[in-house]
Amino acid sequence: MTDTELAGLHTRYRNLQDQVRELGFIAPGSVIERYTICGSPGCRCHADPPVRHGPYYQYTRKLAGKTLTRRLDTEQARAYRDWIANRRRLDELLTDMDELSRQAAELLLTRSPAARRGTQPQQDTP
Ligand SMILES: [Zn+2]
Repeated sequence: MTDTELAGLHTRYRNLQDQVRELGFIAPGSVIERYTICGSPGCRCHADPPVRHGPYYQYTRKLAGKTLTRRLDTEQARAYRDWIANRRRLDELLTDMDELSRQAAELLLTRSPAARRGTQPQQDTP
């Protein structure tokens, strides 16, 4: 019975592993979209209502306590957004893998006295 449960957990775990394998590149941080006002007085960005310049994309991440910022074009911003989404998905998958592993460990530890000691049951020897 416990082996069936363990096999079930293993199947679900494999499924998560497959999803990890299919993930593309990952990136931490975030992409923000900015609209700006320029210095030319007669420009449309100073009109009423104002039509600001942009969007401009900015990638931001923390690294060793510092915030790194980088300007991106539209195509780069699209790629980074995909990678950031992949990173979030990876975090979710890891959380699920942790949980399944915890359940598997629970089964292993409560299964039998031998398993509890971390050894296989003794085989009869001739
Ligand atoms: Zn302007």
